[in-house]
Amino acid sequence: MENKWIVGVDIGGTTSKMAFITPKGDIVSKWQIPTDHRNHGGNIPEQLKYEIEKKCSELGAENTCLMGIGVGAPGSVNAVTGIVREATNLSWKSAYPLKKNLEATTGLPVAIDNDANCAALGEMWKGSGQGARNLVLVTLGTGIGSGIVINGHIVHGAGGAAGEIGHLASNTKDGYLCKCGKHGCLETIASATGIVRAALAIANDHSDGGLSFFYKQNGTITAKNVFDFAERGDHQAKSVVDYALEHLGIALANVANTLNPEKIVIGGGVSKAGQYLLTRLNHYYQQHLFPTVKETTEIKLASLGNDAGVLGAAWIADQLT
Ligand SMILES: [Zn+2]
Repeated sequence: MENKWIVGVDIGGTTSKMAFITPKGDIVSKWQIPTDHRNHGGNIPEQLKYEIEKKCSELGAENTCLMGIGVGAPGSVNAVTGIVREATNLSWKSAYPLKKNLEATTGLPVAIDNDANCAALGEMWKGSGQGARNLVLVTLGTGIGSGIVINGHIVHGAGGAAGEIGHLASNTKDGYLCKCGKHGCLETIASATGIVRAALAIANDHSDGGLSFFYKQNGTITAKNVFDFAERGDHQAKSVVDYALEHLGIALANVANTLNPEKIVIGGGVSKAGQYLLTRLNHYYQQHLFPTVKETTEIKLASLGNDAGVLGAAWIADQLT
């Protein structure tokens, strides 16, 4: 086979995403599989091998057309040793040698990195980064993660924990307990979890207003509901959104003033709130920027959705060759 492909894998707690990708970043085929938790996650290399061979056969391609595998994994990932730690959503025990085991199982070269880092590289390569060599991807989901790319390379930090933007200190006086053990981290305020908690507090305290009424009707509120109500002018929802986005805007301005990247790209489930989120976030973000940074660091919404992780994973695997 003349064409050579890279396998991009984005391992998640429930589903893993896979794709065959050309060295130019075109997706040949992509699919999802339920992540195999049996044998404390020890089946994952065999599962990936099976899936890769099955897809090759479906496409009428030889396994020899594959150049390597790139994997984005949750938790603390040492890109050099290929060991994953603290992947709390997976069944791997304290430290799992993913690179070594996957290379032994498949016979292909393997590159791994943290999933948020891979998503940042994916957006840099084929998404909203549009080739920017300096970029920060911030994912707003149940938590807040980020990947920092400087001069085209991920910043890992001394312990692999660079980019923990979700744990920037935001409310140091009376903030909520974060899952990291500190109080008042940014993600206790501006993640979907933080937004829903603030919305529930208001809905429980008030008998009037759209948000309160919706909660009484449905017994639940999502971050998307809160943004929808805010966009329609509901005062309670607006106060929740503005509180979250003021803290996020200040944090991102601090990041921008520190790194002056070309772009800060906002991804993750909460980013589906789209232009409304971007406008309100920019309102707070712009107020805290150093003048030169204001002219050169722009906030954009991510554009690749679920494909960012597999594309970034393929990008790191391509660097092996
Ligand atoms: Zn924290």
